[in-house]
Amino acid sequence: MNQQDHSHWDTEQSSELYGIKRWGNSYFGLSTDGKVTANTLNTEVALLDIVEGMVERDLQMPVLLRIENILDAQIMRLNEAFRRSIKMLGYQGQYRGVYPIKVNQQAQIIEEIAAFGARYQHGFEVGSKPEMIAALSTLEEPGSLIICNGYKDQEFIELGLQAIKLGFRCFFVIETPTELPIIIERSKVLNIEPTIGVRIKMTTKVSGHWKPTSSDRSVFGLSATQLIDIVDTLKQEDMLHCLQLLHCHLGSQIPNIQEIRNGVVEACRYYADLVKEGAALSHIDLGGGLAVDYTGAQNNDDQSRNYSLDEYCEDLVDTLKHTLDEYNIPHPTIITESGRATVAYTSVLLFNILETTTFEPTNLPEPTADEHPLLIKLREIKGYLTPNRVQECYNDAHYYRDEVRELFKRGQVNLREQSIAENRFFDALHRIKDLLNDMEHTPQDLEGLKLSLADIYYGNFSLFQSLPDIWAIDQLFPIMPIHRLNEEPTRQAVIADITCDCDGKIDRFIDGHQVAQTLPLHPLKVGEEYYLGVFLVGAYQETLGDLHNLFGDTNVVSVRLNSDGSFDFAKEIHGDTIADVLSYVEYHPKEMQLRYRNTAERAVKEGRITARDRQQMIKTFNASMQGYTYYEKED
Ligand SMILES: *Cc1c(COP(=O)(O)O)cnc(C)c1O
Repeated sequence: MNQQDHSHWDTEQSSELYGIKRWGNSYFGLSTDGKVTANTLNTEVALLDIVEGMVERDLQMPVLLRIENILDAQIMRLNEAFRRSIKMLGYQGQYRGVYPIKVNQQAQIIEEIAAFGARYQHGFEVGSKPEMIAALSTLEEPGSLIICNGYKDQEFIELGLQAIKLGFRCFFVIETPTELPIIIERSKVLNIEPTIGVRIKMTTKVSGHWKPTSSDRSVFGLSATQLIDIVDTLKQEDMLHCLQLLHCHLGSQIPNIQEIRNGVVEACRYYADLVKEGAALSHIDLGGGLAVDYTGAQNNDDQSRNYSLDEYCEDLVDTLKHTLDEYNIPHPTIITESGRATVAYTSVLLFNILETTTFEPTNLPEPTADEHPLLIKLREIKGYLTPNRVQECYNDAHYYRDEVRELFKRGQVNLREQSIAENRFFDALHRIKDLLNDMEHTPQDLEGLKLSLADIYYGNFSLFQSLPDIWAIDQLFPIMPIHRLNEEPTRQAVIADITCDCDGKIDRFIDGHQVAQTLPLHPLKVGEEYYLGVFLVGAYQETLGDLHNLFGDTNVVSVRLNSDGSFDFAKEIHGDTIADVLSYVEYHPKEMQLRYRNTAERAVKEGRITARDRQQMIKTFNASMQGYTYYEKED
């Protein structure tokens, strides 16, 4: 490596620039030789080394990398933080975590949570029959919790009652009054006593993206009247002792701890009064909401949070203890349903850059004697460019460039002249941009200049398939190169995906406490791949993704890091083939192959191609059908 190239730049500067310590939650760092590392078990493994292992295994980019140790560590941190808070504050109940399957339903994730979580009896929250089936077939530890939310029909309820008989702590959380009669009837028929919860409708308002989850118009939860009806019905049936759990969920990604506390106080009021009504409550489920600090800003913006995990646990435990002590009520088991915070860190989307487009002069030929006057004007701008005249120069550059375009349309300027104009225009704009860097105040018109001159880096991925929340809800994820971090990133870029959709781009990036429109990146090197990572993508991205332009699921690789710094490819799943995605949209790959064969055969008959050509074409077609939907490099 050439020392001189980057002697003025070190990895500390990259670390600061990309904020990896702020959002990495200590799971990601930089090695001294400029690579992003995954850090667990006191060792560091460079992501680039993992990528090289993938290349050897013919797992092409893009790849969704899952680091199993990070998922384990998050489950451990959550459970241990609650245990510490409970001990420290003298709370009399226990903590029991459940993972809401909807946040990432992939079998690898669910199996890992069940396997590692068994030591904490970490359970599952399920919101549908498929999720229930997934939970029942993965959990082994008796006593693990299964919290059943969502609409529950007779079949769902039978599955749950049988789970109770098997030894799981399965709760039916009643979300609508219609569920109760089915639960009562089925439990009598099967002769299994149900354990029941009620979901309350919270009035506590929360900020962040999921505001409507709480308040009067929330589609979830029971009103006071509905709660009373349920209590009365259970009393009549002599089943009030089955009502053991109170459930609430304020929303996801709650950035402000004060709102979470307010929610707990409200939940305690319901808890206390239901106990007074004679319910045998013993569990309080506070739902999800534990936020991920995507930006690393540690503030109460939508994509951050103003509290740590320890503060979250202490505040929950402390508020429960104080509020319930006032009513002299025994401390219940605390349940939370943290999804996002459990799985976000475990996954990284990795992709290579295919090419870049720059908006700068590539060729500035010497002036010639017979130059068009407008080309001369464009060339002369740099001569009067001073801080006082930036706006004027900016206007002139646009004016002359536009004039040249007009003349081109009318046939008075030729293509070569238009090319010279383009180059001189970009030259002027870059000179203006450089001058602005040294100026205190940027004229308003010129604020978009940096963005309009930013490079486009074309990434081998589909935003719609792999990062749908960027498109749907303006989610910010940390994005950075995973190598070359001991070199100064001298380019400013936006990232385009390969879907040919103008929405398939990333132009909002985390920049300290702000959002930047461009990301600093390195120039590409000939003959060397350039890899970017999108971090914290383990929650909600995978199954929300879609088949826009028929780009399918990416390859997925799960690695397990070992304490000696080595790593194992624990699992690998090849992404969708072209035949796979075509069959999702009702094509029949076998028939398509047959039809293409017939078309080629006709061409042979009509003498347009030889039989040998036909064979080659069919081979290419069939191989392509079995190939990856993304851009593949031939070796
Ligand atoms: C979605 C959801 C969760 C998960 O919330 P996170 O903020 O991702 O932890 C938990 N509980 C219920 C009822 C949910 O609908």
